Amino acid sequence: MAENCLFCNIVAGAIPCQKAAETERILAFHDIHPQAPTHLLVIHKTHTASLSETEDATLLGELMTGVREVASEKGLTDYRLIINNGPQAGQTVFHLHAHILAGRPLHWPPG
Ligand code: AMP
Ligand code: ZN
Repeated sequence: MAENCLFCNIVAGAIPCQKAAETERILAFHDIHPQAPTHLLVIHKTHTASLSETEDATLLGELMTGVREVASEKGLTDYRLIINNGPQAGQTVFHLHAHILAGRPLHWPPG
C-alpha cells in the first residue's frame, strides 16, 4: 500500500467508496464524478502508479479479467474501457485504474 495514494486508502477502507464488486485482488467502485449513467473504476489492490509503470503481466491480466467480470455481473454488453496514462492523457489519480463507461451513446474520438 502507498500511504498517500487515494485508491490504496479506498482499498484499506480508510476512505469510503460505493463498492460495485470485490475479489481478493480486485476492487470496482463507482466514480465520484460519473461521466455516464454507469461509470465504474476497476483497480488492482496492489499499488502501481500507472500502466507504463508496471510490467507485471499477472497484475494486468487480473485487472482485465476484473473488468470483464464486473461488466458481466452488471449486465453491461456495450461499454467503453479507458485507462488514462499520464497527466497529459488526463490521469489524476496515480494508482492504475480502468474506467468503465456505459449507459449512453459514446462518441469517437473522445476529447
Ligand atoms: P483519472 O483522471 O483517469 O486518474 O481518473 C480518476 C477518477 O477518480 C476520476 O474520474 C475521479 O472522478 C475519480 N475519483 C476521485 N476521487 C474519488 C473517490 N474518492 N471515489 C471515487 N472516485 C473518485
Ligand atoms: Zn495506490
